[in-house]
Amino acid sequence: MTAHLASTSQQITHATAALKKLRPAYGELLNFYEKIFVAQEDSRSDIKLAALKITKEMLALKKKEKFPLIDVSEFRIDPKAAIALLERICAIVEAANKEMADSARVIRKAIASETLNPQALFSSLLKADHAYFKKLKKDLAIDKKTLAFVAYISIKPSVVHCAEQLASYLDSDHPWDKGFCPLCGSAPGFSVFEDEGQRVLFCGFCWHQWAAQRIYCPFCENKDSNSLHYYFSEEEKYYRIDSCDSCKTYLKGLDQKNTDRVIYPPLEFVATLHLDIKAQEMGFKSGIQLELQ
Ligand SMILES: [Zn+2]
Ligand SMILES: [Zn+2]
Repeated sequence: MTAHLASTSQQITHATAALKKLRPAYGELLNFYEKIFVAQEDSRSDIKLAALKITKEMLALKKKEKFPLIDVSEFRIDPKAAIALLERICAIVEAANKEMADSARVIRKAIASETLNPQALFSSLLKADHAYFKKLKKDLAIDKKTLAFVAYISIKPSVVHCAEQLASYLDSDHPWDKGFCPLCGSAPGFSVFEDEGQRVLFCGFCWHQWAAQRIYCPFCENKDSNSLHYYFSEEEKYYRIDSCDSCKTYLKGLDQKNTDRVIYPPLEFVATLHLDIKAQEMGFKSGIQLELQ
């Protein structure tokens, strides 16, 4: 069996429908994220950004030192597209997510009254400026997590656009063998084990995908099979938790040979909260920094 990766709004809708059948308990959450991911996909065609350029000298240095091509703070954001998406996301959150609805309403009103500058919000997220978020939380009396969530969701199409453009700088003759994203340096958020035995890691921030070894911890580069394990349950053999005894970290993943569903990795990521609970119960910590995402 082979799973296919979704890349259009229609495929995201198919992927959500298939997942809802498998996990009815996630129905409400999946409906919510389907709207978010479709809104992001729709926004992609509006994005206009000048290309990020990396000089030959810089590229040679990055390659030699195995540095990522850019820092997260260097991603370019199309303000018009991101602000339009932010408004749409706030409306989705207000209508469908009780927990975050009040904060989303405050964010939308604060933008309308110019108390909140969306461009400052976006750049503060990219710079991981915690002081900015703390101040907004206090000034607007809103939940910091919701603020970061809607900001990240809104800039993601621009981030993905930049990532796709930057990927052309990568050297296909020398595959990346590090555990962090070759483009932005972020940790992987999800992995997919392909039919042919290849493993693909997905950046937890820009969602760029790169090939990795199967028996490998991307967080500490451990390759010792005695201390690397994976777990799955009989009811859902297509999911797995890869854990490392050396750094006590886990990564969620999907095994394509056990499903023929259309897969949209960001959706699989949110539909597997039970795996996070399971992994944490087993004493492992997540390898991704979720505080401002
Ligand atoms: Zn990345
Ligand atoms: Zn490790």
